[in-house]
Amino acid sequence: MNLILLFPEDFIDEHLVRLTSRRLEHVTHVHRATVGDALTVGVAEGRIGRGEITSLDKDALEMRVTLTTDPPPPLPFTLVLALPRPKVLNRVIAGATSLGVKRIYLVNAWRVEKSYWKSPRLSEENLLAQRILGLEQARDTTMPTIELRRFFRPFVEDELSAIARESLALVAHPTGATECPRKVAQPVTLAIGPEGGFIEDEIASLQRSGFTPVSLGPRILRVETAVAAVLGRLF
Ligand code: SAH
Repeated sequence: MNLILLFPEDFIDEHLVRLTSRRLEHVTHVHRATVGDALTVGVAEGRIGRGEITSLDKDALEMRVTLTTDPPPPLPFTLVLALPRPKVLNRVIAGATSLGVKRIYLVNAWRVEKSYWKSPRLSEENLLAQRILGLEQARDTTMPTIELRRFFRPFVEDELSAIARESLALVAHPTGATECPRKVAQPVTLAIGPEGGFIEDEIASLQRSGFTPVSLGPRILRVETAVAAVLGRLF
């Protein structure tokens, strides 16, 4: 936790917050902080600064907060991600959030197992928890949006062109004939397939919506590695 993310309900006074449970435990056991220490804090959707601990016991800690800087700028990037296996989902969401992605669509695909859609990891609570971990890791405060699209075809045919409008639309595909571009100067919308990859029908459908299949090189990458590799290349 490189930043303690604060929410409006944490404030007990204009500049004073009171924290319990996970954040209290982290400050106590990982930072090993005591009264008088100052930690990096940030308000969700707001500014970043310092929080000086004014009281701390086993039930709660209080900090006086001074906010001084803006969060890092968002990446001009939309991630369209075939719903990964539940175990991978948390890592991908937290990882993409820490890299600065602000708009994520989790979509179905032929090779996404139906049971994945029933995973408790898709609960609002868990998806929020993973994004908070990503923001705390990255020292960011701007929460990404996540939208779920249970049906691939209507999403791609009816919605995706509008989502990708005025951006470079790419689908990461190991057999893509084009190399993924580097250092682009425009917003990007990127689709990433499931562990088994997109089927050719899905690639064709994405192409009809204006997406170009691009390769990230001869190695097949895990989904979370592909997200990191592609962002490192593009921006
Ligand atoms: N067996 C699958 C691999 C899927 S890897 C196949 O051959 O298609 C999961 C996803 O990560 C892929 O659908 C793609 O979006 C992305 N990916 C992984 N390695 C890639 C590479 N070398 N180039 C482009 N995309 C890649």
